This record gives sequence, C-alpha cells and structure tokens, in this order.
Amino acid sequence: MADADSSLVRARKTLPFMAPYRKGIFAVFGLTILTAAMDAVEPLLMKSLFDGLGVGQDLNTLLTAVGALIALVIARRLAGAFLNWVFWKVRIGVNNNIQHAVVDCLCALPLSFFRSRNVGGIVTKMNRGITGYMDTFGEIISRVLPNLLYLVLSLTTMFVLDRRLFLVAVAFCPLPALIGAWASREQMARENVLMNRWTRIFGHFHEVLAGIATVKSFTREHAERCRFMNGVCETNRIVMRGVTRDTSIEALNSLIVNLGRVAIAAYGGYLVIQGQATVGTVVAFLGYIGGLFGPMQGLTGSYQMVRRASVYLSAIFEIIDAANPLKDDADAVALTDVKGAIRFENVAFGYNNDTQVIQDVTLEAAAGETIAIVGPSGAGKSTLLSLLQRFDDPCAGAIYLDGIDLRTIQRASLRSRISMVLQDTMLFNDTLRNNIAYGSPQASMAEIVSAAKAANAHDFVSAMTDGYDSMAGEGGKCLSVGQRQRIAIARALLKNAPILILDEATSALDAESELLVQQALRTLVAGRTTFVIAHRLQTIAAADRILVLKDGRIIEQGSHAKLIHADSYYARLVKKQSHGLRLPDDMAA
Ligand code: ADP
Repeated sequence: MADADSSLVRARKTLPFMAPYRKGIFAVFGLTILTAAMDAVEPLLMKSLFDGLGVGQDLNTLLTAVGALIALVIARRLAGAFLNWVFWKVRIGVNNNIQHAVVDCLCALPLSFFRSRNVGGIVTKMNRGITGYMDTFGEIISRVLPNLLYLVLSLTTMFVLDRRLFLVAVAFCPLPALIGAWASREQMARENVLMNRWTRIFGHFHEVLAGIATVKSFTREHAERCRFMNGVCETNRIVMRGVTRDTSIEALNSLIVNLGRVAIAAYGGYLVIQGQATVGTVVAFLGYIGGLFGPMQGLTGSYQMVRRASVYLSAIFEIIDAANPLKDDADAVALTDVKGAIRFENVAFGYNNDTQVIQDVTLEAAAGETIAIVGPSGAGKSTLLSLLQRFDDPCAGAIYLDGIDLRTIQRASLRSRISMVLQDTMLFNDTLRNNIAYGSPQASMAEIVSAAKAANAHDFVSAMTDGYDSMAGEGGKCLSVGQRQRIAIARALLKNAPILILDEATSALDAESELLVQQALRTLVAGRTTFVIAHRLQTIAAADRILVLKDGRIIEQGSHAKLIHADSYYARLVKKQSHGLRLPDDMAA
C-alpha cells in the first residue's frame, strides 16, 4: 500500500512536465475515444451484414452494410494516423521537459552529490529512467482510455444482444486481469534489480574508460573486459528469466482468450441450431470477445507498466529531488567591482560529521597578493581553496570577498571572478580555440590569440596542422602535459578574473616546457589575488606570504625570509629538500 502511495506521489509530481501539452493530451484522449468507438461499432456492422444474408434477401441491405463498413474502416485509419502524429508530438515534448529538468538539476547539484556517485552510473540511470517513464506515459495515454472505453461499450452491447452469451464472455474476462495483477509484483522487483545492476555495470565501465591508461599500464584490460561481460551476462540471465516468466504468463492468457472464443462459438452455434440466436449475433460476439481480451490484457499490461514506472520515476526524482543545500539565497547579490581581498575567519569544514578537514583557519589576503600554501598531502590545501569557490560552505566561521560574506553572493557571480589552473588540467575534446574560450565564449579570435601568446601557447598551437581548430582529444590527451597547462593558463588569462587559484603541477616537465609554463604563470599571476598550492621552491619563495597547513590548521605563516630563519616547520621542510627545487608532497617534519 505504501508502495502504491509513493508511486502515486511520484506520478503526481510528473504532472508539471505534462502541463504545457494539455491540449495535445486532450486531443489524444479525444481521438482514442473516437477510434475505440469505431472499433466497437465494427462488429455491429458485421452483425447486420450477416443477418442480411440469405436466399432472396434484399441486396440493398448488404450494399448498405458493406458501404458503411468501408466508410468506417477509412475513417478509423485516418483517425488512427492523426492520433499517432499528435501522440508523438506530445510524447517528444514531455520527454524534452523531463530531460530539461533532469539536466538542469544535475548541473546545479553540489559536488558532494557527484562525489558519492559515479558519472557513468548517473548517466545510465538517467537514460533508463527517462526512457522507461516515457514508454509508460505513452502506454497510459494511448492505451488505458481506449481499452476502458472499448470494454464498457462492448460489454454493454453484448448484454443488449444476448444475455446468455454475455455471461459466457464475462466468465472468461477477469482471468487474464487477475493473472496480470499477480505477476506485476515480481515484475516490479525485477525492474528494480535490473536498474541497479545496469547502473553499476555502466558506472564502473565508464570509470574504466576514463582511466584506460592506468588499466593498460597494469595490463588489466582482459580482467576489466571479463568483469564487464560477466556483469552483462549475469544481468541478461535475469532478463531472460523474466522473459520466460512473462512469456508463460502471456501464453496462459492467450490460452484463456482462445478457450473463451471456442466457448462462445460452441454455445452460440448451439443457440443458432435451436433457433434462439442469429448467426450475425454469434459473429458479433466472436468479434467482441476477440477484441475484449485484448483491452483486458492491455489494461493489466498497463497496470504492470505503471508499477514499473515507479522504478523509473524514482531514478528521475533521485536527481530532481536531491537536496541542494548550496542553493543561492533569494537575496544573494551579484558582484560588480571586485578588488579581490579575501578573508577567512575561523573557518572550519569537514566532508562528514566525524572529522574536520579544516580547523579554525583565519587568514587575510590583500588584493593582488600571492599566497603560497604548503603542507603535507591530505593537509586540506585543496579543500581550503574549494571553500573559496563555494563548492562547499564552511560548517563554522565565514569567508569574505572584499568584506562580503561569500554566502550572500550569487554562486555564479562569485565563480566568474575566480580563475583556476589545476595540475590536472581538464581540456574538453573540442578545438583548442574553444578550449581557450571555454570560460569566455564571447571572446573574439584576436583575444584568444592574444591570451595564447601571453600563455606561451600560440607557437605550438600555430604549428599544429589545424592551428586553433585542432582538436584537444579526450581530456586533452593529444597535447603534452606542458602544452595542456599553457592552454589552461590562456583560458584563465582570457577569463581575466581578479582571483586566481593555482594548483602547481607536481609532474616533472622538461626544462624548456617548464620555463615556458613558469613564464606564462608569471604573466597570469600579475595583479591578481593568487592562492597557489605550491610544490616548487621558486614559486614558494616568490610568494608574498607562505602558509603552512597541517592537519587542517595553519601552523605557520609569513614570508620566505621570515620563516626560513626561524626554527620553523617550514625551514625544516626546505632543508629536507635534497635537490633544492621541488618539495616532496609528503614532507613530514
Ligand atoms: P591536500 O590538498 O592538502 O592534499 P585535501 O584537501 O585534498 O588535501 O584533503 C584533505 C582531507 O580531506 C584528506 O584527509 C582527504 O582524504 C579528505 N577529503 C578530500 N576530499 C574528500 C571528499 N570528497 N570526501 C571526503 N573526504 C575528502
């Protein structure tokens, strides 16, 4: 019962997706009623045709019945074709509305939603959910109503024509419905299992493809292929068991239908011999009973589909209803003139309630200042900077930009003032021109080229066969690490945001690339408030201020000159650097 309730609640929540297509849906209903009525009239015409047969009977009666039948068949086909056209128009429209809502919600969800799920799984679930729901929607608006109508009309006509034959028909009618209702519970449970399995299989496979280089380097291709295929085969076994069960149920139902026909033919034949019924009446009954079990089965099929739809709806609403704790406040402001002064005030944050990854951090960065953040891996450096972009909000304390609490700023407005260059540069499989202009789609070609020049990227881009129209490859794999970084720097330069977050690459570049990247970075940093998660001593020493972060706390801060002389954690870190240029990531003092 609770099951049915939640299905109903979910179904009701889909009404707004259909609302704009109200007229179309009513047209579908109207046309389906019309076609169902025409279907119900057909056996009556047959009856008058057959009853009109006999030696010496009036030929005009036969011709009238045949003419009416031809007119009915033509009208029925025309109405059917128009119904199909309107139906698909409505279906595609509703489908668009759902897709729109799901994609909107997906893009607006906080990163925490994606951290706990995998991307391939989300996409699989979304596709299966929407397709499954749309099939059900189609089923309901195109079959339920005409089936019901046909049932009422045909049962009434049969009752009027002959009550004895009517009772025979009615005796057989409920059986397929009862069998269908009994089968639906297992079908729904099966659909749930399938949805979860496909989500898991494709989710994992997506991860495998995204990390194919790692898979190959550990020669795990065969193992991954087997894992995928085993998953697919196992799941298909469940599908096959379901098909066997569904087919048996279908076969049982058609057996009942055919037995019903035979019973009508036998009893009807007997009544004709006894002179208690006409041949036309028996023909009409055979027509009705053939058409009666179809809608009966259709209705039970629809009932099963509606129950399965609840599984699809839960997949859709898992995305739409996902709590979005980082929604902008209604009165959140859009930034206008940003200088770039940042202040963290007693900020604390944890990904879960048990551990605090950032603890009581207070720091101030003047506009244009460069702050290097150093500390062992896992100290909370990336987390601290993700709070600055409001990917999460602090659980205590506050962060201010030019004195304005970030929580009162519209998220998009804040992020448009921050550029980010990560060591793990994300490029899209698009042209280099579009990759550079990703954050500034309105940029002119001259601006793109100028940013590429300032980022030391223009020369290598121009040397490529298609120049700025060359494709970056998936994730930018057609470029070297150093080239990818320079494209990312050009992208950040073009965005021209007053605040910059840099995650300095730990991967070694060859000397020339390194020089080009460093030069480009110097251009990028100039005049911006910069937070750099630093690994190179030159970067750290060149910063206006250094923060040493350990276990989520700032344990030291100051200039290189100040910190290196003291008996500091920082001084010990630097001393530990055997080759003097790069700080190891796991520097434990
Ligand atoms: P750093 O950048 O200094 O290497 P991070 O900020 O990435 O450190 O991580 C700090 C701590 O937070 C680590 O213990 C890490 O395991 C944890 N952490 C990072 N991201 C997540 C996450 N999405 N969910 C849960 N814990 C996380």
